[in-house]
Amino acid sequence: ALSDRLSGIFESIRGKGRLTEADIDATAREIRLALLEADVALPVVKTFIAQIKERCSGAEVSKALNPAQQIIKIVNEELVAILGGETRRLNYAKQAPTVIMLAGLQGAGKTTLAGKLAKHLKGDDHSPLLVAADLQRPNAVGQLQVLGQRAGVAVYAPEPGSGVGDPVKVALDSIAEARQKGHDVVIVDTAGRLGIDEEMMQQAREIRAAVNPDEVLFVIDAMIGQDAVNTAEAFRDGVGITGVVLSKLDGDARGGAALSVRHVTGQPILFASTGEKLEDFDVFHPDRMASRILGMGDMLTLIEQAEAVFEEDQKEEMTQKLLQGEDFTLEDFLEQMQAIRKMGPIGNLLKMMPGMGGQMRQQIDSIDDKQIDRTSAIIRSMTPAERRDSSLINGSRRLRIANGSGVTVSEVNQLLTRFKDAQKMMRQMSGAMGLPTGTKATK
Ligand code: GDP
Ligand code: MG
Repeated sequence: ALSDRLSGIFESIRGKGRLTEADIDATAREIRLALLEADVALPVVKTFIAQIKERCSGAEVSKALNPAQQIIKIVNEELVAILGGETRRLNYAKQAPTVIMLAGLQGAGKTTLAGKLAKHLKGDDHSPLLVAADLQRPNAVGQLQVLGQRAGVAVYAPEPGSGVGDPVKVALDSIAEARQKGHDVVIVDTAGRLGIDEEMMQQAREIRAAVNPDEVLFVIDAMIGQDAVNTAEAFRDGVGITGVVLSKLDGDARGGAALSVRHVTGQPILFASTGEKLEDFDVFHPDRMASRILGMGDMLTLIEQAEAVFEEDQKEEMTQKLLQGEDFTLEDFLEQMQAIRKMGPIGNLLKMMPGMGGQMRQQIDSIDDKQIDRTSAIIRSMTPAERRDSSLINGSRRLRIANGSGVTVSEVNQLLTRFKDAQKMMRQMSGAMGLPTGTKATK
């Protein structure tokens, strides 16, 4: 799994502060291998990796995650985005019936999917009609009739022995049948061939032209691996498709076909078929597929946890600072305001704390983003010594700081006054919380 591959890299770059070119390259190489192992097609892998590298190079350094974790987070986000981000729903016709045509190679799982989709739609209060427009295989009509019966859904098929052998006519007639019998969705099952074949494409095109479907769903076997690209291209160009269904996801396919097909067709994946039974059907979830392709659900959970723990640590640190009235410095002041801006609820929490006077409340309320940015600039123009001990900041230092941060001396003065008030209140608060002033809280 990718997580095993990457553990070596994690080791080597643990504790490094930022993403170097070499870290990105090394991690990208492993991700590339993992994607190829998951059967993502090579050209798709290349494009994807280039995109990832670009985003990683520009990435801000995260305090919560080490560089490799950060890259994986980015890879995961990009995968989810490429796989469609959010689940796309079926397009329904403004005027019933909605026509859904299925296309794909023989054995891809079209007929099975037709039954599953019909059952799914019936559960959603639709009244689907299944249409047997695969007249190629001798038992294709019978297979659909059995599925229809199991799903409790009507099936439209040519009369046995009627001599009707034209799938285009069957498909066309089924629309009239649906109107007459009040079916609001028509699902047209079509024939496939073992390989891509011009005659099959021609037939599918003709059916499409005859019934003008609202959706043409391309059903593809997830186990098909590297062939997914060719097959998807052939159906994209030969028939034209509006969506994709991945079948046989219950197998051990790593799901790379999903990425390839999505990339090649530019069309969303709507559903996943996950077994032979009618119930083995799911709306497609991009995030689940992304962790399947990366093979690292656990790692992603760890990353989420690391980020959550980091936030907790920051809150904890803040509380500690609040308890240490004496140690409260300009740097803490800055950090605190930024935290208040970032985590709104902390501001509210502070307001509810015992010993919190109206003055402090006012101060919290007066903090806005622009002011925080200006304050940050001023504090950053101070030397570390000044930040630790504000009493050092005399007249000439004030001028230097004002010039350095592009504000007036009087703004620097205001900031120092506000800071001293805050420092005083910190001391009062420690007192109100029953702690001796100046006590260093232990961590
Ligand atoms: P079609 O030729 O495209 O209509 O494919 P079928 O629907 O007839 O399916 C071909 C074979 O694959 C059948 O044996 C199905 O039972 C099986 N099949 C279809 N979908 C799935 C699936 O999601 N999982 C598994 N395990 N088997 C499936
Ligand atoms: Mg079939």
